[in-house]
Amino acid sequence: MASRRRSRTGARLFAVYAAASLFPVIALGAVLMRGYHDDGLRHALDQGRAQAAVIEQMAIAPALRGADRSQGLSDGERERLRAATDLAIFRGSVFRLRLLGFDGHVSFSDDGDASGAVPVDDPAFRAAVHGAVDARFAASVPHSRALAIRVLQPVVAESNGRAIGVLEVYLPYDRIAAQVQADTRSAITRLALGLLGLYAVLAAISWWTTRSLRRHAAANEHQALHDPLTGLPNRELFRRTAEDELDRSRTGGRGALVLVDLDHFKEVNDTLGHHAGDELLCIVGDRLRESLRTDDTVARLGGDEFGLVLPGSGDREETVALLTRVRQELGQEVTLDGATLSMEASFGVCFYPEDADSVEGLLQHADAAMYHGKHGPTGVVVYEPAASRPAMEALVLQRELRLALDRDEFVLHYQPKLELRTGRVAGLEALVRWQHPTRGLLPPSEFLPVAERCELIEPLTGWVLAQALADSTAWTAHGHDWTVAVNVSARNLSSMDFVDTVRGLLRRADVPPDRLRLEVTETALAFDADLARQVVGALAGHGIAMSIDDFGIGFTGLSQLRTLDVAEIKIDRSFIAGLPDSEQDRAIVRSVIDLAHMLGCIVTAEGVESEAVAAWLREAGCDHGQGYLWMRPSRWTDVVGVERAAALGARTEARS
Ligand code: C2E
Ligand code: MG
Ligand code: MG
Repeated sequence: MASRRRSRTGARLFAVYAAASLFPVIALGAVLMRGYHDDGLRHALDQGRAQAAVIEQMAIAPALRGADRSQGLSDGERERLRAATDLAIFRGSVFRLRLLGFDGHVSFSDDGDASGAVPVDDPAFRAAVHGAVDARFAASVPHSRALAIRVLQPVVAESNGRAIGVLEVYLPYDRIAAQVQADTRSAITRLALGLLGLYAVLAAISWWTTRSLRRHAAANEHQALHDPLTGLPNRELFRRTAEDELDRSRTGGRGALVLVDLDHFKEVNDTLGHHAGDELLCIVGDRLRESLRTDDTVARLGGDEFGLVLPGSGDREETVALLTRVRQELGQEVTLDGATLSMEASFGVCFYPEDADSVEGLLQHADAAMYHGKHGPTGVVVYEPAASRPAMEALVLQRELRLALDRDEFVLHYQPKLELRTGRVAGLEALVRWQHPTRGLLPPSEFLPVAERCELIEPLTGWVLAQALADSTAWTAHGHDWTVAVNVSARNLSSMDFVDTVRGLLRRADVPPDRLRLEVTETALAFDADLARQVVGALAGHGIAMSIDDFGIGFTGLSQLRTLDVAEIKIDRSFIAGLPDSEQDRAIVRSVIDLAHMLGCIVTAEGVESEAVAAWLREAGCDHGQGYLWMRPSRWTDVVGVERAAALGARTEARS
């Protein structure tokens, strides 16, 4: 496409060059031809002058020599003159010949007509009287259309060089003109050939120049439209290609636009260095190109983001199957600087023309789909209109969240975890809320997903940790030995730096590590299992206990827990709500409690809302309970009263 556009531009440039050089060549030709034409006329007059001189010297002057001028022309002279001029007139080499006196009267005429004297003020005649030869174009005879050259020339018949009259001859122009024309024609032919040659040289120069310009422009364009590292089309070319495809789809046909984002590329860069990162990007580019058709476009949009345009891929299922294969291909192991790793990537897919009528719209939708891919179990996600509708809202929220951190608009509420057997409060879980300036107190579900997406989750978790540790110092000072639990998200566990952050905060708050508990959901652990496992291991190694939150709804099997350093399992409230009536839930909860105990973990039931559920859990051997039964999340100072009431309840039940 680009080369076609380039050759069109090249041809246009050459045409402009050729036209521009044609113009001066034509102008030069016109000027030269005009010059040749004028030279031809001048030459004709010169010839006329020469002929008249010959007539005067060879015929007229000899016929008049030795005569007495005061008497006019004698009959003998007239006869000699007639004899000398008749042949020329007869042959047509002279149209008319007259001999004029200095007063303009006709003293001899070839046709014998003495009338038609020349006025003495005729400039040509006056010039001839004064010894000059005058030649100009005129009608051959008065009122005739045949052109002639009229020459007025003084007649010098005597050896003293004095003029005795003026000779007037009309010479036929056509003969002279034929000669002059023949000369001019051959000169013009030579000129035309010369100019043609010149034009050919100019055209060759312009072709050569435009070709080098074209090559230079092509090199520049390639540079401007390709990624220097991978050689793939860059974002601009990707956008142009997508635009062309979108245009084409308006007259029929469909296709898919895909965004591909590598997971955890940053870590590769950080741990193995930029050189390895660059190599990995090249490998990813190659693998994408090799696993797609030649008609498909693979572009690097920047960083670890790639874009694909798949013309003709209108069938959703087939496209997802294709991209799943491509994703697997991409996930094959690579060895970089001696380290073997496998790359995961998230694919966001949308289809044109149905999903959007502009490239920007398609990119936005594919991005929304890709984002869902990053946080879900499948790596290839197709855009669903409902999924990205809040995208604009998310942008506004993102900006507000940033401000909220600066303005300290977050607050922590606490919910106690109670020992079911004794009713004693074992620890408090910190649950963040946002005191929004206009929308009031917002629960985490309103802003956490956006914070996670725009990487604000890191500073937010930092704030929650610091605040929770400060509060825990306060309740310890009031004599409570409750632990403090803080929820962390998948993103926090995606970097080893988090371990240092937590340790630094503990040190600063002067809180021993065993007072802190970090809650992480199963989904977060499944997100990047290996790295998360390492981070959890490192935290546990520093004495910071980990809890698996919302256990049962995610992807972690109990067997997987064996390999994780986990101190507590919190059974998701969806299993607790159905207790004690649902036999299935009872079976599940019982087996989770037993297995968790076998693994040495404490079991906490989330979402305990009734005394019956609490009693069943107590009887099933569950260690801790948390729920509205005892307290909704609120200020930590409210927990004290709750503990007293719960302990009383537990004792009463134990007695009965
Ligand atoms: P979670 O960690 O599982 O927290 C328990 C959630 O269940 C809380 O919702 C709590 O209010 C609610 N809950 C407690 N007892 C009951 C009950 O008896 N019945 C019902 N229906 N619900 C109960 P909340 O505060 O809206 O938090 C929702 C989730 O947001 C939390 O689930 C946690 O995953 C996340 N979250 C909260 N604060 C933070 C935080 O600071 N950082 C991170 N990363 N996540 C947080
Ligand atoms: Mg929690
Ligand atoms: Mg939970």
